[in-house]
Amino acid sequence: MLLKARTESDELLTLRSLNIRTELTSKERFYYENLERGYDGEVKFDSMIQDLRQERYIINDLLLEVNNSFFQIDTLIISQGVIHLIDVKNFYGDCYLNTDNLYSVSTGREYKNPINQLNRCSSLFRQLLQNLNLNYLVDATIIFINPEFTLYQAPLDQPFILPTQINRFLRELNNVSSQLNDGHKKLAQKLIELNQPKNPFAMLPTFIYDQIKKGPYCKICKSFQVTIRHHHLVCNNCGDQEKIDQAIIRNVKEFSLLFPNEDITTKAISDWSRLDLCKRTYTRALKRNFNVVGNTRSTIYK
Ligand SMILES: [Zn+2]
Repeated sequence: MLLKARTESDELLTLRSLNIRTELTSKERFYYENLERGYDGEVKFDSMIQDLRQERYIINDLLLEVNNSFFQIDTLIISQGVIHLIDVKNFYGDCYLNTDNLYSVSTGREYKNPINQLNRCSSLFRQLLQNLNLNYLVDATIIFINPEFTLYQAPLDQPFILPTQINRFLRELNNVSSQLNDGHKKLAQKLIELNQPKNPFAMLPTFIYDQIKKGPYCKICKSFQVTIRHHHLVCNNCGDQEKIDQAIIRNVKEFSLLFPNEDITTKAISDWSRLDLCKRTYTRALKRNFNVVGNTRSTIYK
């Protein structure tokens, strides 16, 4: 049973938007593309475990804090006898491992050793359980999800599940019977309650309103070559059509994600989205989809 679904983090959504509207540096772009790839891998793993048999809780994307240390769990599966902590890696190509790091054979690029990360995560999770006076068996695993990933010199005693082993891993998980009780349920609720809403380690480039390209882009192909026809935002590149209200809402959400401290007013949104619509159309869309707050000269929406 899925208790907490996965959604894109604010960090990923912000970088996605900045990648479209600004010129990211190569370092920022590399970081952003890694986040996208990581998210794709996690979503792919979600679809592989959606039909797990027996009673199990699945909690995705937990950010927890224990003794002032933050740690992240991509996928947590609670079964009767064990809690699985799963870290999904979407690495690609040929890699090899030495004591501290993982290296790409072709590019020489260096990745942080995922084992250190996993060990830190499981030890902090065990501490958390201890603080809660709970005693469960914890099993931590790294899943390499990309079928085009090869790990040379993979040590046999490490908690790795390579792409060719994922199906077997899931089969074995499925073969262990599991019945959950009230204790499992309380633990799951507690973990979700402890989830931290904001990632303090999000790495966002600094940006200011004036430097960002304004105006609407196509929600599918991200092209700015769009025009308004018959109450739709029509893409001249891929042909996608989006209802104008939907396009306005999408722009409002993007604006408030990038500028959480700015008020959402008709004026702000019309300057941001530049949809070439009359004020009334903006106001109507805002009124329909957001709440009016305050009582100032210009209406603010939330
Ligand atoms: Zn398009």
